[in-house]
Amino acid sequence: MSAPILPRIREEIAALPPYRQGKQAGADAFKLSSNENPFDPLPQVVAALADTTPMNRYPDATAGALRARLGERYGVAPDGVHVASGSVAILYQLVQAAAGVGDEVIYAWRSFEAYPGLPLVAGATGVQVPLLADSRHDLDAMAAAVTERTRVIIVCTPNNPTGPIVTGAEFAAFLAKVPADVLILLDEAYAEFVTAPDAVDGLAARIFDAHPNVVVLRTFSKAYGLAGLRVGYAIGHPRVLDAARSTAVPLSVTAAAERAAIASLDAEDELLARVAVIVQRRAVLVEGLRAQGWDVPDAQGNFVWLPTGAATVDVAAAFEQAGLIVRAFAGDGIRISVGEEASLQRVLDVAATQRG
Ligand code: PMP
Repeated sequence: MSAPILPRIREEIAALPPYRQGKQAGADAFKLSSNENPFDPLPQVVAALADTTPMNRYPDATAGALRARLGERYGVAPDGVHVASGSVAILYQLVQAAAGVGDEVIYAWRSFEAYPGLPLVAGATGVQVPLLADSRHDLDAMAAAVTERTRVIIVCTPNNPTGPIVTGAEFAAFLAKVPADVLILLDEAYAEFVTAPDAVDGLAARIFDAHPNVVVLRTFSKAYGLAGLRVGYAIGHPRVLDAARSTAVPLSVTAAAERAAIASLDAEDELLARVAVIVQRRAVLVEGLRAQGWDVPDAQGNFVWLPTGAATVDVAAAFEQAGLIVRAFAGDGIRISVGEEASLQRVLDVAATQRG
C-alpha cells in the first residue's frame, strides 16, 4: 500500500515541535516538572464542581460571573477582564490579533516554552533577546530590538524557567522607550509567589490605566491550584481585550472551570496561606542549593533553576533515578518545581551528589 496523500500543512507549523509537557511521575516519585501546586484541591472548590449547570447546555460564552468577580477584586469594569482556558490561550489570542505575516514579536530567551510557537502560528517572526548573565530580562536590549515591524513584546515576570522578576522601575523605564502602539503582554503567571518588594505588579500598579498597550496576564493554574481545569485571565484596556475576544475559540471556558475559579476566589485567604508555605519551601531549596555551591538565580516563582549547562541531561537523569521528575532544558539548566514537603530533602540530596 502506498502512503496516503495527506493535506498540505504550512511548513513552519509542520516543523513546530508539539508542546512538551512535564513527565508524569510513578508511584514513589515527585512530579516537579510543571510548576503545579502540590496541595490537594480545597473541598469547597470540589463542591463547586458538583453543582453543575446541565451539561447539555453551553456555558456563558463571556464567563461573565467570573469576569465580574475578578473586576471587583482588581477594581476594574468587567469588560476590562478577559477569561480563557488558561493564560496560554490568551497569549495565542492576543499575538494572533496583533501580529501577522512580516510582523515581529519580541520575547526574552530563555523564557516560557510556549512563546516561540506564538509568532509562528500567527505567521509572524519571533525575535529572541537573550537574558542577562544573572538570568534576568535584558529590557534595554528588548527595547533596542524594536523595529517598525514590532507588534508585540512579551515580558515574563517572574521569568519561567529561571526565576527572577522585573522591577517596577525597570518596567517603567522600558515602557518609556517602547512605542505606545506596540502591545506589551506582561505575563505574571507566578505573581502570587513573588516576595521581592520592588517587583512590578501590573495589577496593583494599574499600569494599563496610563498605558493601554499593556495587558496583564494571570492564571488560576499555579497559586490557585486549578491547572487541570484551565482558567486564565487578562486585565487591560477593554478595547484591547476585545481583540482577544475576537480571536478566541468560542465557548472554551467550561461552566465547571468558571465555577471552580469563583470558589477559589471565595477561598483566596486559604489558598494564599498555601502559597506562603510554598514560598517557605522555596527558601529551603534556594538556601540549601546555594550552600552546596550552586549558582541559583533569585527564585520568585514556585520553582528554582539549576544552571547545569552541558551536564543538564546527566543531572536530570540522576534526579529521575531518585524519583524526582524535573524539567531539563538540554545544554542550559534544570527547573525544579517547589512541591511536596517530602520532596525538598530528596532534591537537596541528589543535587549534592551532582556537585562533583
Ligand atoms: N505563562 C507562563 C510564564 C507559564 O509558565 C505558564 C504555565 N506554565 C503559562 C503562562 C500558562 O499557564 P496556564 O495556561 O495554565 O494559565
